Amino acid sequence: QISIRNFTKTFDATTVIDDMNLTIRDGEMLALLGPSGCGKSTTLFTISGIHRMDKGQLMFGDRDVSGLPSQKRNVGVVFQNYALYPHMNVFENIAFPLTVRKDAKADIDREVRAIAALTHISELLERRPGQLSGGQQQRVALARALVRKPDVLLLDEPLANLDAKLRLEMRSEIRRIQLETGITAVLVTHDQVEAMSMCDRIAIMKKGEIVQIDTPADMYSNPRTSFVAGFLGNPP
Ligand code: ATP
Ligand code: MG
Repeated sequence: QISIRNFTKTFDATTVIDDMNLTIRDGEMLALLGPSGCGKSTTLFTISGIHRMDKGQLMFGDRDVSGLPSQKRNVGVVFQNYALYPHMNVFENIAFPLTVRKDAKADIDREVRAIAALTHISELLERRPGQLSGGQQQRVALARALVRKPDVLLLDEPLANLDAKLRLEMRSEIRRIQLETGITAVLVTHDQVEAMSMCDRIAIMKKGEIVQIDTPADMYSNPRTSFVAGFLGNPP
């Protein structure tokens, strides 16, 4: 499990995360759901190591990673703009985290082909990102994030750039891939339907605090505050 303890983050004297406590269970997909500016991406960036905590502790299992830079944490990240390398083909894009780590060529080949099969892009390995649809690019980004078998998969609004039809398809595809790999995942979104349909649990955030964390069904039937109820589209 991943646990965040007493996490506080301040930007320019503004407290953006205020004494947050959060445990992400092994193998679950957890949504961080809340309005714009509530601190979702800041939380994700802190787990990945892009941001440092001003105060607090971050544990991956029994390992304290609070002080480690992102390269020394084994995390996979997918952003809403997939940030693929345009000059590399799909194979090279997916292989990149392993190439950096200087894995053996045969191992890289095997791992890339396995993750490409899982994400249904085996026939696209020779193409460049510019020759792919939005949904295909997202599959490549997912494959690249997963190829190192990270401790946690972090997804920041991964569906925001897709049209409505593709967004529906990729919701179930991301969930399928998460379940098949059994990876622990955090999905940042401001879309309550996305959170409810894809995740095991939802943490609702408001102004740098988690106001409720529950399964989608429990959250929906028993919202603790009117903010939560309103956010889920189920006002009292
Ligand atoms: P959105 O849904 O719009 O992506 P979010 O919940 O991801 O929002 P964050 O990006 O975590 O929100 O930002 C939380 C707050 O911290 C915002 O008020 C934002 O302006 C501020 N903030 C984020 N990054 C920085 C930064 N590097 N410097 C200063 N302020 C920042
Ligand atoms: Mg954000």
